[in-house]
Amino acid sequence: MVNFTIQNVLIAFSDDYATVDVQIIDGAIAAIAPNLQVIGTAIDGKNKLLLPGFFNAHTHSSEMWQRGIMSVFPLELWLAELYDFAPLDPEQVYLSALGTAVETLLSGGTSVVDHLVLIPGLELETIAIATRAYREVGIRAFIAPLIQDESLSAGIPSGESAQKHEPYFRSTAATLEIIEEAVRQFHRPDEGINILVAPTGIQLCTDALFQGCTELSDRYNLCRHSHLLETKAQEKLAQEKYGCTAVEHLKRIGYLSDRTTLAHCVWLNDADIAILAETQSTVVHNPLSNLRLGSGIAPILKYRQAEVNVTFGCDGASSNDSQDLLEAIKMGSILHNVTNSDYQHWITPRQAVEMASLGGAKGLNIADKLGSLTVGKQADLVLYDLTNLSLLPRTDPIGLLVLGRPTNVVNSAWVNGKQIVADGKVTTINVDELRQELFNRSQWETKRKSETVAQIEAHYRTVMGL
Ligand SMILES: [Zn+2]
Repeated sequence: MVNFTIQNVLIAFSDDYATVDVQIIDGAIAAIAPNLQVIGTAIDGKNKLLLPGFFNAHTHSSEMWQRGIMSVFPLELWLAELYDFAPLDPEQVYLSALGTAVETLLSGGTSVVDHLVLIPGLELETIAIATRAYREVGIRAFIAPLIQDESLSAGIPSGESAQKHEPYFRSTAATLEIIEEAVRQFHRPDEGINILVAPTGIQLCTDALFQGCTELSDRYNLCRHSHLLETKAQEKLAQEKYGCTAVEHLKRIGYLSDRTTLAHCVWLNDADIAILAETQSTVVHNPLSNLRLGSGIAPILKYRQAEVNVTFGCDGASSNDSQDLLEAIKMGSILHNVTNSDYQHWITPRQAVEMASLGGAKGLNIADKLGSLTVGKQADLVLYDLTNLSLLPRTDPIGLLVLGRPTNVVNSAWVNGKQIVADGKVTTINVDELRQELFNRSQWETKRKSETVAQIEAHYRTVMGL
């Protein structure tokens, strides 16, 4: 493993900054102090800011193929359209995983949680090829194969009408077997590849699926992931399905824990928030997706006051429609100023940075290893160029990084001490080739028609009172 020393670099230090040297030995931070002896390669940190890598704590990589074209729809209809045109070719999954990794890295992320949509019948192949992509790029990957055991129409509340749903094409047991096999084949935390259990959410999953996932999580020490109460429709559905809130139900069946991350959490009440705090579950805030799909504004300031851990995600690139983590962090902090006039609760840029780094590590149960510039922690680091036009003139570097519109500001990034971005470019894969492949395998489109949307839209409008 390569050792190196970053010299004269700016780091956040208490509520100020300090200029220090940072020694990295065997993939870990060995020392942080001024004027250290150079060990290994010397890296010039002058006029640069060093931060722990952020976590893109919720995304769906293959959505990249549909970014920009999805209709202006709420989640339930949007999902129907998404699945009608989902890519079915593993090679596309590979390319969009590469693209997701690259965009995450170049916006400050060194870890990605990919709630990976599986190609029916090619489930393990899908996981294998995404794993290959993330290994090639070198980003730390948390692959959360997206599973469900109910068909899509079951995700919409029935309302007054009795709705019948097609059974899901694969049994719950078969789905759990796929996940267990994925763990055996691909779960290698020491090599930066982790498998998570990740039922998509209460809207499309039975208790048997959640409980099977909990068992796998306990047996193999896996983190747990899920969507939670992203939309008003899901809040209604939970009441129909369980006669209580989704959070109460998930607590009852044992899915919530200190290694459970829950994407969205828009429609929770105060009792639900107390349950998240008590179970030490983590909220993954995806502000751009919530705005794009009209899902609502997650009560993030309430979570923070209740000491619920919160971190950020981009969500899939067709509900965002990018993977710019700095943009998600900016929006995810300032959005909440309109929800509470008491500015003392508003999220500061430094708090946002901590949520994006340590918050992500906590959610994935690795805060002892990652998430801060601390001696002994693993070197997942990002170096920002403070001479970049978008970070000038010189003011408060973290303030401008979070609140500004930083463009091409990542100079270098390391994962586990291995450099994978240098001079603003990903060094591990050929990004020009990736660009060419994405171009060649797509075309400019304007209109397309989702048959599933045509089937369900009238019912959706009725049940939602539209
Ligand atoms: Zn999602």
